[in-house]
Amino acid sequence: MEAIKQRYSKQRETILEVVQSTLVHPNADWIYKETRKRIPNISLGTVYRNLNQLVETGRIIKLKDESMVRYDGNIGHHDHFRCAVCGKWYDVEMIDQAIIKSFAEKHDFQVESFHLELEGTCKSCLNS
Ligand SMILES: [Zn+2]
Ligand SMILES: [Zn+2]
Repeated sequence: MEAIKQRYSKQRETILEVVQSTLVHPNADWIYKETRKRIPNISLGTVYRNLNQLVETGRIIKLKDESMVRYDGNIGHHDHFRCAVCGKWYDVEMIDQAIIKSFAEKHDFQVESFHLELEGTCKSCLNS
Protein backbone atom coordinates (compact mmCIF):
# COMPACT_ATOMS: atom_id res chain seq x y z
CA MET A 1 0.00 0.00 0.00
CA GLU A 2 2.75 2.39 0.99
CA ALA A 3 4.72 1.49 -2.14
CA ILE A 4 1.70 2.18 -4.33
CA LYS A 5 1.14 5.53 -2.66
CA GLN A 6 4.76 6.43 -3.21
CA ARG A 7 4.58 5.49 -6.85
CA TYR A 8 1.51 7.69 -7.29
CA SER A 9 3.09 10.69 -5.65
CA LYS A 10 6.25 10.22 -7.69
CA GLN A 11 4.17 10.26 -10.87
CA ARG A 12 2.45 13.42 -9.71
CA GLU A 13 5.75 15.12 -8.87
CA THR A 14 7.13 14.19 -12.29
CA ILE A 15 4.06 15.63 -14.04
CA LEU A 16 4.36 18.78 -11.96
CA GLU A 17 8.01 19.10 -12.96
CA VAL A 18 7.10 18.68 -16.62
CA VAL A 19 4.49 21.46 -16.42
CA GLN A 20 6.87 23.74 -14.51
CA SER A 21 9.75 23.08 -16.91
CA THR A 22 8.13 24.88 -19.82
CA LEU A 23 6.72 28.29 -20.65
CA VAL A 24 4.53 27.05 -23.50
CA HIS A 25 1.36 26.45 -21.40
CA PRO A 26 1.09 22.89 -22.70
CA ASN A 27 -2.01 20.79 -23.23
CA ALA A 28 -2.45 17.30 -21.76
CA ASP A 29 -1.11 15.53 -24.87
CA TRP A 30 2.15 17.48 -24.73
CA ILE A 31 2.48 16.77 -21.00
CA TYR A 32 1.76 13.09 -21.63
CA LYS A 33 4.49 12.85 -24.28
CA GLU A 34 7.05 14.61 -22.11
CA THR A 35 6.15 12.58 -19.02
CA ARG A 36 6.53 9.33 -20.98
CA LYS A 37 10.17 10.19 -21.59
CA ARG A 38 10.64 9.85 -17.82
CA ILE A 39 7.95 7.28 -16.97
CA PRO A 40 7.54 5.18 -20.14
CA ASN A 41 4.57 3.10 -18.95
CA ILE A 42 2.36 5.94 -17.67
CA SER A 43 -1.10 6.14 -19.24
CA LEU A 44 -2.90 9.20 -20.57
CA GLY A 45 -5.65 8.59 -18.01
CA THR A 46 -3.13 8.75 -15.17
CA VAL A 47 -1.73 11.98 -16.55
CA TYR A 48 -5.22 13.51 -16.70
CA ARG A 49 -6.04 12.35 -13.19
CA ASN A 50 -2.84 13.82 -11.79
CA LEU A 51 -3.29 17.08 -13.70
CA ASN A 52 -6.76 17.44 -12.17
CA GLN A 53 -5.39 16.80 -8.70
CA LEU A 54 -2.61 19.33 -9.23
CA VAL A 55 -5.21 21.90 -10.33
CA GLU A 56 -7.45 21.11 -7.35
CA THR A 57 -4.61 21.54 -4.89
CA GLY A 58 -3.60 24.83 -6.53
CA ARG A 59 -0.17 23.73 -7.70
CA ILE A 60 -0.86 24.43 -11.36
CA ILE A 61 -3.47 26.50 -13.19
CA LYS A 62 -5.89 25.30 -15.82
CA LEU A 63 -6.49 27.63 -18.75
CA LYS A 64 -9.08 27.32 -21.46
CA ASP A 65 -9.36 28.76 -24.90
CA GLU A 66 -11.88 27.82 -27.59
CA SER A 67 -9.86 24.91 -28.85
CA MET A 68 -8.20 23.29 -25.83
CA VAL A 69 -7.38 23.12 -22.17
CA ARG A 70 -3.86 24.18 -21.23
CA TYR A 71 -1.88 23.99 -18.02
CA ASP A 72 0.33 26.61 -16.43
CA GLY A 73 3.05 25.89 -13.86
CA ASN A 74 3.34 29.57 -12.99
CA ILE A 75 0.83 30.08 -10.17
CA GLY A 76 1.82 33.63 -9.28
CA HIS A 77 -0.56 36.32 -10.52
CA HIS A 78 0.10 37.00 -14.15
CA ASP A 79 -1.75 37.58 -17.37
CA HIS A 80 -1.40 36.14 -20.83
CA PHE A 81 -0.65 37.06 -24.37
CA ARG A 82 -2.11 34.61 -26.83
CA CYS A 83 -0.69 34.30 -30.32
CA ALA A 84 -3.50 34.09 -32.87
CA VAL A 85 -1.17 32.43 -35.39
CA CYS A 86 0.50 29.57 -33.49
CA GLY A 87 -1.92 29.46 -30.55
CA LYS A 88 0.83 29.63 -27.92
CA TRP A 89 0.26 31.45 -24.65
CA TYR A 90 2.95 33.69 -23.19
CA ASP A 91 3.11 35.09 -19.68
CA VAL A 92 2.62 38.82 -19.19
CA GLU A 93 3.88 39.98 -15.81
CA MET A 94 4.11 43.73 -15.98
CA ILE A 95 0.55 45.01 -16.23
CA ASP A 96 0.60 48.35 -14.47
CA GLN A 97 -1.55 48.20 -11.31
CA ALA A 98 -1.93 51.98 -11.56
CA ILE A 99 -4.27 51.52 -14.54
CA ILE A 100 -6.57 49.34 -12.46
CA LYS A 101 -6.39 51.79 -9.59
CA SER A 102 -7.28 54.80 -11.70
CA PHE A 103 -10.17 52.89 -13.27
CA ALA A 104 -11.50 52.01 -9.81
CA GLU A 105 -11.18 55.60 -8.59
CA LYS A 106 -12.79 57.05 -11.69
CA HIS A 107 -15.87 54.86 -11.43
CA ASP A 108 -15.95 54.40 -7.66
CA PHE A 109 -15.61 50.67 -8.06
CA GLN A 110 -13.75 48.30 -5.85
CA VAL A 111 -11.71 45.91 -7.98
CA GLU A 112 -11.06 42.59 -6.29
CA SER A 113 -9.43 40.72 -9.13
CA PHE A 114 -8.64 41.17 -12.74
CA HIS A 115 -7.53 39.04 -15.59
CA LEU A 116 -6.23 40.47 -18.78
CA GLU A 117 -5.77 38.60 -21.99
CA LEU A 118 -3.81 40.08 -24.85
CA GLU A 119 -4.03 38.64 -28.31
CA GLY A 120 -1.86 39.18 -31.35
CA THR A 121 1.08 37.68 -33.21
CA CYS A 122 4.15 36.49 -31.34
CA LYS A 123 7.72 37.30 -32.31
CA SER A 124 8.54 33.95 -33.81
CA CYS A 125 5.39 34.05 -36.00
CA LEU A 126 6.18 37.62 -37.08
CA ASN A 127 9.66 36.52 -38.13
CA SER A 128 8.64 33.46 -40.09
ZN1 LIG B 1 2.99 32.67 -32.59
ZN1 LIG C 1 0.97 31.69 -17.70
